[in-house]
Parts: sequence; C-alpha cells; structure tokens
Amino acid sequence: MNTKIHAQFLGGVAYDDNLTGSSILITIEQGKQTTRLLLDAGLIQCYKQALERNAEILHWLRPEHIDGVILTHAHIDHVGRLPFLTKHGFKGKIYCTEGTRNLLPVMLRDSAKIQAKETLILRAKSRKQKQNDAKKEDFSRDKMTMGSYDKKKKKYSKNSNKIEPLYEMTHVEQTCLLIKNGGLPYESWHKLAKNVSLKLYPSGHILGGAICVIRIKSSPQNIYLGFSGDLGRDDGVILPPPKMIIEPMNYWFIESTYGGKKHPAHKNEITKLLNLIKEIYNSGKKMIMPSFALERAQEIIYLLSYYMQTKKIPPIPIFLDSPMAIEITQVFAANWNSGMFEGQDKLIFNPFQTGSDSYLKTITDDKSSVTLSETPGPYIVIAASGMCDAGRVRTHLRAGLGNNKTVVALVGYMAKNSLGRKLKDGLPIVCMNGEEILVKAKIVSFDSFSAHADGPHLVNYTKEVVNIQPQANKKIFIIHGEEEGATNLKMDLIDALPKGSWLKQIIIPKLGQDITL
Ligand SMILES: [Zn+2]
Repeated sequence: MNTKIHAQFLGGVAYDDNLTGSSILITIEQGKQTTRLLLDAGLIQCYKQALERNAEILHWLRPEHIDGVILTHAHIDHVGRLPFLTKHGFKGKIYCTEGTRNLLPVMLRDSAKIQAKETLILRAKSRKQKQNDAKKEDFSRDKMTMGSYDKKKKKYSKNSNKIEPLYEMTHVEQTCLLIKNGGLPYESWHKLAKNVSLKLYPSGHILGGAICVIRIKSSPQNIYLGFSGDLGRDDGVILPPPKMIIEPMNYWFIESTYGGKKHPAHKNEITKLLNLIKEIYNSGKKMIMPSFALERAQEIIYLLSYYMQTKKIPPIPIFLDSPMAIEITQVFAANWNSGMFEGQDKLIFNPFQTGSDSYLKTITDDKSSVTLSETPGPYIVIAASGMCDAGRVRTHLRAGLGNNKTVVALVGYMAKNSLGRKLKDGLPIVCMNGEEILVKAKIVSFDSFSAHADGPHLVNYTKEVVNIQPQANKKIFIIHGEEEGATNLKMDLIDALPKGSWLKQIIIPKLGQDITL
C-alpha cells in the first residue's frame, strides 16, 4: 500500500530561536485512511508575543481532527498547550508513560493557576486603565497567555474586553481524562491506528521521559520514525542513561538544546557542592538553592540524602519550600520502588518521603516559609522558581541576600534579565520588589546539573541510531534548540556520521514548515 507521510513543525524549532513550545504534526495517509498524530503540545514561554504564538497552533491544525497526542515527557514546554487543544475540540487519545501520566495533572493545574492569577491582575489593570484613558489601553502584561481567540479572524485579540486565559482548570481535567490506559509501559508496541504503532523507550531526562518510535506497516518495508524528546545524560543523577532504540530508523528527530556544547565534569561540581555544605555546617550559615520544581529539586534532594547517608557531609535539614515541588516529590516518593531510579539501591531509605529516616522536610504554607527565612542556619532550603523571578525562593532571597551568613547555590539555567542571572553575573546590588539589596551573601554557580545530553552525547546517540541500519536512514531533523546549537549539532553530525550526502539529509526546520517524508 502506498504510504504518504508529512511532518509539520508547530513549535520548538531552531530558526525561531525559542526552543519552547515543542510540537510536531505527523500526518500518515494510506489509501482512504488518514492518521493525524501530534508529537508533544508544549507551551511557548519567555517570548514577547507568546500569547499569539501559543494560539497560532490553530492556524495549522484543527484539534478535532487530531487522532492522538504522543507525549515525550511532562515538562510544560512539551505539554502546556494540551488543555488549549482540548478547549478547542481535541477529543483524541493521549499516549504517554505512567510517569508522565502521574506528573501531567500537577504540571497542567499549575499552568492553569498561573494563568488564572495573571488574568485577575490583567483585568484589574484593564479596568483602571479604562478609567484613565479609554483609548490608550496598555496591555503590557498581556504577553504570555492572556487574550481571547476570535474564531472568524483566526487570531487572538489582546484588546478584547473579555480577557481570558489560554485555558482553565476544567480544560485541564478534561485533558487528563484522555490519557490512554492510565499510561503505557516502556518497550512494547501499542496500536495507535490501523497499521500505526508506538513504542516508548526511557529517555533518562526526567521521570516518565520517553524516546518515541512510530512504526507504520507498509510494503515492501515498514517505515520507522524516531523522536528523541529531551534526551537525558549518560551520567544522570537518579535516572539511568537514555536507552538505545533498536529499530532501523528512516526518519530521526533529535533535540539540540546543548548542540556543540560540553557539560563540565559532574564529579568536580559535586565535590564543590559537598565542600560548600561542610562550610555552611561549620559556620552556621544557611544555603538557598533556587530550583526548578520538576526533576532538579528531586535530584538535589537525592544527592544530598546520599552524601549525608554515606557521611560525606554532616546531616543538615533539607527544607523543600515550593507547593508544586512538594507535590511532584510525592510522585517521586510513590515511584521510589518502581525500579525506574538508578540510585535506588544506594540508599537505605526513600529520600523523597518526609519522616524520621529521611533528611527531607517540607514547608507547606507561606507563614512557615517566612518563619524559616528568618531562622539562622545551618540548613538547606530548596525553593522555586528556578530563575528566582517568582515563588517562595524570593522570600528567602529577600531575607538572606544582604546577609553574609547566607550562601546561594545556583544549580539551574538562568535566562537573561532574571534575578538568578543577575546573581550569577555577580551584580553587587539587586532590586527586589522595589527595594535595593546590597548582596553580601556568597553566590556559587554550578553548571553541570542539566538534565539534557550535551553535544558529544547527542552526536554519539544519533550515530548509533544511524548505525542500526545506515541504508535505512533518509532524513535527520534537528529540533528543540537555538539556532547556534542546532547548526553546531548539524556540523558535528556531518563530521561524525558515515560518509554520505548528510548536508541535504540533515534538516533544521522552520516554524510552520510542512515537509513530505
Ligand atoms: Zn524537558
């Protein structure tokens, strides 16, 4: 049977220079049957026109025509537009692992809550501005997710009287009901449609992360499409390295977040962290660790617990002060004995559970958070947001930055202009809530805690994929990276892969580009 396949890139593409919003529409035509599958439906973040950009997905697809959405993992830049699709008619199935199934409601509810909060601020601002000058409305905050969609004009209106979020809690709950079989097991085939099946491999990126392989039964040979998702490290903290796929890959879609870059050695950075903890213990200081709520916070908890158990560092209380991170950590605690974690056998207790045999303590309310921020050390507090621009970490920073009894350990990526970036860059004075703070705290940066494979690892993994059956490979698509990372990865792949016409075969797609495979 004649098979036609298209791939259309709806976000997370390099030429757009914004790696968020991952989404690829795969259309498979066989005779009278058309199967439309979406690979991820991520939210576009940190972009001036993110509102319009997020809604733009409706220019390219009709959600009611999508048969299924396959999720590589639960990070919001891979799943955050799902409820928006449900709101606009998506009723198909969602295919993901059990880990992603467990994390998805937490991530999407948080996204809906943020949008609801921002809607209230925006509406209040709008009312005030209307009183001042009806003609000069400034919707300057209306950048991320707010507005209303005009179906006829097929665009979002920022100047609408009816300011609404991209989606609400009810759309999140409807979305979570669409998950197939409560999550799928790794490394077995699942039927998506007639002649179309899916296999998921552990990606090593975050809990539940998957490398996705689509098999299309066709003659004379089956056709295979592989998607790396966000590829994990081969020296991850709690998850095993990405599993190698075994199918002969015709089309390979590889992420490029760290294309051309090499991570610093993990070992040296861990020694640096352990020495810092000994220092705060001996001098009665406190350590503030701004952290992303998913995976990074749990990796840090695991690492600290491990080194405390093995007596490499003294036992110091670890406070987790972020409602979302606490909820996610409970998912990790519930999965501790599932065999998903590589470091499981190294610990004699579940590090994600609070209790007498664990070092972890949780802060559940704002008042306790303030009390803790005023308490002298030694202790470690892990709090979101990772870039210090929101969340309870700001309570701790406001109380601690002006004090030389504080150490701030920066373990995550810090975007330009974020408070975290200013601290990382060593600014002597920072502004928080209109108040200038002279930074007396010790600021220490760590660059090796990324959950992504680095450039050499991306090249090696792809090389192995191609080597499964070199003659099968027709095209490689480089996605999910900034232009520099994607271009570097392309050049490195051309050097590393067996001789061939790779210059034409390796494609860095543009936003909206529809490519016939
Ligand atoms: Zn990710």
